[in-house]
Amino acid sequence: MTDAERRDADGRPPLLEVEGLKKHFDQSDGLLDRVVGSSSSVKAVDGVDLAIREGETLAVVGESGCGKSTLGLTVLNLHDATAGSVRYRGEELAGLSQRAMRPYRRDLQMVFQDPLASLNPRQTVGQILTAPMEVHGIGGSDADRTERAKELLERVGLRASHLDRHPRQFSGGQQQRVGIARALAVEPDLIVADEPVSALDVSVQAQILDLLSDLKEEFDLSLLFITHDLSVVRHIADRVAVMYLGRIVETAPVEALFDDPQHPYTEALLSSVPRIDPEARRERVVLRGAVPSPLDPPSGCRFHTRCPAIVPPADWPGDQGAFRRAFTFRTRVEDGALDPEAVAAQLAAAGRPTDDASVASAVVEQSLPGDRGDLPEEAAEAVEAAARAVVAGDEEEATRVVHAAFPSPCADEAPERVPLGPDRAADCHRVEPTDGADAEPTDASGVSVENP
Ligand code: SF4
Repeated sequence: MTDAERRDADGRPPLLEVEGLKKHFDQSDGLLDRVVGSSSSVKAVDGVDLAIREGETLAVVGESGCGKSTLGLTVLNLHDATAGSVRYRGEELAGLSQRAMRPYRRDLQMVFQDPLASLNPRQTVGQILTAPMEVHGIGGSDADRTERAKELLERVGLRASHLDRHPRQFSGGQQQRVGIARALAVEPDLIVADEPVSALDVSVQAQILDLLSDLKEEFDLSLLFITHDLSVVRHIADRVAVMYLGRIVETAPVEALFDDPQHPYTEALLSSVPRIDPEARRERVVLRGAVPSPLDPPSGCRFHTRCPAIVPPADWPGDQGAFRRAFTFRTRVEDGALDPEAVAAQLAAAGRPTDDASVASAVVEQSLPGDRGDLPEEAAEAVEAAARAVVAGDEEEATRVVHAAFPSPCADEAPERVPLGPDRAADCHRVEPTDGADAEPTDASGVSVENP
């Protein structure tokens, strides 16, 4: 896609464009890694595309550990990017030295999750607010800057008289107001707000969200709002990018995402959002299993180890739930998670037989979610054959059996990004392009380039 195509109707590029951004943390610095010669890396951010327009709030949502905070820090060049591009007003930031970043620091600010940890406890609020103004040449004198600091304090709901207090003398909500005032002090264009309300009492969260919304309008800001909590997103975001294990899996305008999520992971996240309207409540989707390690993300679609909608083979004789259970058993076999010795010990302790057939049967009982009888007969026989191979110590054969019996394209091929109309896209084998989506060209991040 050409640069001309990316621009909005007024010919402006997005305020911020992120393409193919990666941040990998090398783990080989540790003693253990030096001893074993490992050079593994944590792929915290692993190929992210997104764009933020002027005056827009983009929420990035995902479970803890999905890489969203690292994404925020890498976008601001507070972490060095491993690969990819971050363009602010068309200028490349990735790879700039901290010195070269200085002119951009004023425009790009951050509000942190833990307000107290982000404020210098030895400084007064006045010093906290005026120091960045001085660094960036805002205000003609100390008196000007102090006056502006007082105005900012009042604007964020504090009092001018708070100027002489220290951070510890405030409540959590007040500390976050100071953090927001500090970000505003240098008149930024974009604020990255990383879980700005998650450390606060629920009663205070709404106040801070309202404050951020009002300030965004008043100061004509753009926001990159990072959160694990989809329920707060509806109040503040224009668009949402859903992140899983280092990648964006769905982007959509906020109402479209809540009304009609396309990616199974988004559906699962939304199903846990409390709704007052009983009509609007969704059936709760419980995701089984932990988020896989970003050291070694799953092949194909990264969500396939937990996805309730994982695609079965065309000739699968059972229902979707049965395939999900069978595939979970496959994953456990492939991960070497079956432990026949421990199972044998449990059987012995319970006074039950510990011959191979009994141990294999108990391995199936413990490792196959649900009942063996709920699987199609052929699938149940494959599960038992794999368990027998594990008990016989032949993990290779066990893996071969489950691989052949429970194949899925989701485990083999990473899904392409599917355009779904203006500003919408999802990465999933089950998602079909909607009619007319081709007529609304999007950039790599799913942002419509004709209908901003
Ligand atoms: S590609 Fe497959 S595993 Fe991934 S979200 Fe879609 S259905 Fe689920």
